Amino acid sequence: MGFLQRCVGRSRCLLLLEGQRSLGSLPSSDRGQQYSTGVAGLQERTLIAVKPDGVQRRLVGDVIKRFEKRGFKLVGLKLLQANEGILTEHYHELRRKPFYQEVIQYMTSGPVVAMVWEGYNVVKTSRAMVGETNPTEAKPGTIRGDFSIHVSRNVVHASDSVETAQREISLWFRSNELIDWDCCNHKIMYEH
Ligand code: UDP
Ligand code: MG
Repeated sequence: MGFLQRCVGRSRCLLLLEGQRSLGSLPSSDRGQQYSTGVAGLQERTLIAVKPDGVQRRLVGDVIKRFEKRGFKLVGLKLLQANEGILTEHYHELRRKPFYQEVIQYMTSGPVVAMVWEGYNVVKTSRAMVGETNPTEAKPGTIRGDFSIHVSRNVVHASDSVETAQREISLWFRSNELIDWDCCNHKIMYEH
């Protein structure tokens, strides 16, 4: 079976429907489904997004590189201009915070790169890789600690729990935008 057939067979490798509808207005049945079956924990997924400041500063490659080198698997990726609808859902829990309006304005100010990464404990590990919300407190070696200075421009988003990740992935990706694929170094990463 050829590569294309394998992809289509898995039915998660279809054309992006970007721009046809607002993602924020999609019915839940049309949004990404979470967690294929498999060995517990290995298929945990999280949403990572390079925010507009990160895209403007050409940091997309640096962010991707860190997740690839750590060993996580990229299963979804897109550049998009997020609308207010998706962001109000995304940041729903922050709606009463004094900085809320500014965050929405900032996040709609330019394109973002949304990604879904998969792997063992990826939610917790990603938060450690990204660093504290406020770059002043983010340790060197973390993304925010290496690339940012001010809390209002902290380069990346990372889901903060497995439950939040499920909700956020479903918000930003349709199920046919997430691709299940076999990583050639899977055994080297996970088995001994
Ligand atoms: N934020 C801000 N000022 C603050 C706190 C947060 O501008 O005092 C922004 C910042 O971009 C942050 C986002 O709001 O990343 C979401 O805040 P949250 O507390 O969820 O932090 P995160 O999960 O991104 O670390
Ligand atoms: Mg958060």
